[in-house]
This record gives sequence, C-alpha cells and structure tokens, in this order.
Amino acid sequence: MSAALHLQRGLRERIRSGDAEITVVEPRSHLTYHPLLAEVAAGSIDPRHVVVPLRRALPHCRVLTARITRIEHATRRAWADAAGRGEPPAPVELDYDVLVVAPGSVSRTDPVPGLAEHGLGFSTVAEAVGLRNHVLEQLDLASATRDPALRQAALTFVFVGAGYAGVGALAELEDMARHAVRGYHNVGQDDLRWVLVEATDRILAEESPELAAHTLAQLRERSVDVRLRTTLESAAGRVVALSDGSRFAARTLVWTAGVRPSPLLRDTDLPLDTLGRIRCLPTLQAVGPDGRALPGVWAAGDGAAVPDPRAGGAPCAPNAQHAFAQAELLADNLLVSLDGGPRAAGIAEYRPDRAACSTSLGLHRAVAHTRRGGRLTGRRAWWLHRARHLNRLPSGDRKVRVLMDWLLGGVFSREVVSLGTLEHPRAEFEAGFGNGPGNGRGTGPETGSGRGTADDRPT
Ligand SMILES: Cc1cc2nc3c(=O)[nH]c(=O)nc-3n(C[C@H](O)[C@H](O)[C@H](O)COP(=O)(O)OP(=O)(O)OC[C@H]3O[C@@H](n4cnc5c(N)ncnc54)[C@H](O)[C@@H]3O)c2cc1C
Repeated sequence: MSAALHLQRGLRERIRSGDAEITVVEPRSHLTYHPLLAEVAAGSIDPRHVVVPLRRALPHCRVLTARITRIEHATRRAWADAAGRGEPPAPVELDYDVLVVAPGSVSRTDPVPGLAEHGLGFSTVAEAVGLRNHVLEQLDLASATRDPALRQAALTFVFVGAGYAGVGALAELEDMARHAVRGYHNVGQDDLRWVLVEATDRILAEESPELAAHTLAQLRERSVDVRLRTTLESAAGRVVALSDGSRFAARTLVWTAGVRPSPLLRDTDLPLDTLGRIRCLPTLQAVGPDGRALPGVWAAGDGAAVPDPRAGGAPCAPNAQHAFAQAELLADNLLVSLDGGPRAAGIAEYRPDRAACSTSLGLHRAVAHTRRGGRLTGRRAWWLHRARHLNRLPSGDRKVRVLMDWLLGGVFSREVVSLGTLEHPRAEFEAGFGNGPGNGRGTGPETGSGRGTADDRPT
C-alpha cells in the first residue's frame, strides 16, 4: 500500500489520461499496521483504527480483493483467486508491464504436539481481539472455579517466540491483566504467571542487541519468566513441556515463533534466496540471471532479500522500518525508471538510516533508542514510541483516530471487559434451541469448563 500510495501520486496525470493503471491485489480489503496490534490486544486502541481501507487510501488505483496464486514473469502474467468465503476459487488472469512484489511473511509453525489444537496466533486484528477476550476470560474463570489446578492453569500465560509479536503482546497483555485483577476480590497480581520462551540466546532478533538486552531486563524486572535457548516440546492436553525439562499446565499458549517469507514466492519464476525471499539489488530491483536488474520486477519488505549496507550486505531484517522505507524508495526508483533517458541514472540504492528503535511494554512503559544512540525508558520512551508510530501510520484519518484513542485512554481508566461473545454472535440464539450452555457467555473455544464455582479463593 505504501508503494502504491507513492506511485498513484507520481502517476496521477498518466492515470487520468489512461496511459497508466495501477492494480493492487490483496486478499484483505485493508492494510494492517502490525506494530500497534499489541495495543489493540491491551484495549488501548480500537481494532478498526489500526487498519487502513485500501479503496479509500488508493482512490486512483484498481483494488482487487483477491490472492495471487502464481506469477509467470517470463510472460508477464499473474493469476489471482478472488474467492468469497466458502465459495470455490474464481481465478483471474492479470497481464502487467511492471510487477511490484511485497507479500510479506507468514507465521512459521512447527509440528509440536498439541500446538494446532491449543495454540493461538498473533498476527491479525481478529487474533489480537480474540487473545484479549481470552485472557480476560481466564481471569473470570480463575476467580470462579473451586479447582486449584484449573485456577493455576487459567492464570498461566505462555508465549513462544520473543520477536516483535511475542514481546509486544506479552508485555501489553501482562500490563492489562495486572490492571484488570484489581477488580477481582480473589485474584491478585502475584497469582499471574507469564512465561516467554525463546529458542535463541536473545530476544527481539530484529532489533539492536542493546535494545533487546534492555527490554529483557525490563521484562525480568516485572517477574516475567523469560527462558532463552528453550523450545516448546509439547502442548498436548494443555500441558506445556519445555526443552529445559519443565512441565506445567497453561490454558493460554500464544505462538509467535518467527516468520517465513510468503509461500506465494515459491510459485513464481522470480529469483529467490535460500530462505525463499526475492533476491534484490540495493535499488530494490530483482536480480536477473546475469546479476543485473531483472527488467520489470521490484520487491520490498519481509519477502525481499535487500542488502543492508550497515550489516555488511546481509539481507535487511524483517521489520516495519525497512518495509516502509523500501516501499517509498521503490516507488521513487520505479517512477524514475519509467521516465527513462538521462533520469534513469537517478535510481538510488537503499541505505537505511541509523535505526531509531523502540518497544512498548505496556501503559507508560517502553524502551527506546534514539538515532544519536541515546537510551530512554519509562514514560519518555513510551511517548517517543507512540510519536514514531503515529508518524508512520499511513493515513491522516487513522492517525487522528489512534491519537483520540490514546487521549481518551489518558482520561478514563482502562477498559477491561471481555466481549468474547462477539466472536460467536449466534451463540445466544442457538442456546434458545438448547444447543448451547444457555447463559450467553462462555461459548468461546477457550472458556470455562463449567466446573464448580465459588466466590472465594480456593484453599
Ligand atoms: C504482531 C506483529 C507486531 C509487529 N511489530 C513490529 C514493530 O513493533 N516494529 C517493526 O518494525 N516491525 C514490527 N512487525 C513486523 C512488521 O509488521 C513487518 O516487518 C512488516 O509489516 C512487513 O511489511 P511487508 O509489507 O513486507 O508485509 P505485510 O505488512 O505483511 O504486508 C504484506 C501484504 O501482502 C498480502 N499478501 C500476502 N500474500 C499475498 C498473495 N498471495 N496475494 C496478494 N496479497 C498477498 C498480505 O495479506 C499483506 O497484507 C510486527 C509484526 C507483527 C505480526
């Protein structure tokens, strides 16, 4: 969307005169701004405010709500499936002159026993809202049950994978849950157990080692049990078994163990590296067989292996900072290449700025590094983090809405109601036919077991 925004601006006259046409193919009708998903889970931002409707943002482009299934650059054709929900695919063939490929990445999953049945993902708005409701339901369950084992499992939250998604989601939800338990007479903050499991020896691999170390220290200070060089071996029967030998019951298992390039890229005749990303020149053009630019193909973001001069030419890390900066440069370079002639010499190479990075760790908590190498924590880091994301959010309308959410959050206390039933809108109606529990609650897949409840903390 970012590249298309710049291209529609640069090509406006040509689009008007019918000389150029931009088609954006995307299975969802919106862009999701992932770095703010953790704040959606925490209830600080309305879910609709972190998505940008493509048709409104790109009025000069043709937006096709479909998934590209194959690209054959040799004949400059691509195929898209414009399937509706539950309907058979309706393939569409598209011809093009210039191709921009930016399908990002997908979650990497491992065949861990019990993971498919009990794991929760965290990469979409629906998952962020679902996880928030789930966590709040666990507090209700822990408060109501008489079974100490069930209570302990309900209050144990395990996150596997300490990248942006895992660290951000855990930190924001831990902060939210800590606030929420103030309203419970029999659940205390010390009853909550948060575990972060990471296979490597550091967290936030996409960020600088300094910021990662700093974030780790902050999490441990908050009693988050961070286990490095540890993997999830099993989640069968909701019992988490880790490679360090520990085993414990947990009703919340969030899988955020890294990403891999979009599988679409394997169904193309484009040049890929060993990880399955498009091999790119620093100009964001795909590499041809002769090592020079492959005519007509540009790529950016998580699905592109773009050399990072700051890392000795190794591919850029998959993060939003690179994705946005590359998209902007890609559009500028593409416009220059379309004009041809002497201006073609104006194609520039990608040179990322010195990273200014930050991670939000809950309300009024963050760690941030400035471009000059300064380090901030607490409120100042948190304000800086918010200002950066507000600046980067690609829509003026969304910027205002998110700002309003934050301002309202500063005036009123945090909203901690679980609306799990929204995910099952037919539950109440079905219960009327005797098909459900009949109380209008607890119809979600992860809700209470219906075992004995009591007002008092179990003894
Ligand atoms: C929960 C979460 C939190 C994050 N937090 C941060 C953060 O704090 N800071 C940071 O720098 N980065 C963060 N990231 C990473 C960042 O979001 C990504 O690096 C960035 O979005 C990559 O941009 P992209 O354009 O390559 O891919 P995306 O933003 O994923 O966009 C790719 C688009 O392509 C579409 N697509 C995929 N396949 C097809 C197909 N076959 N046909 C048509 N369309 C297709 C997808 O639907 C998607 O909309 C986070 C990621 C997640 C999941």
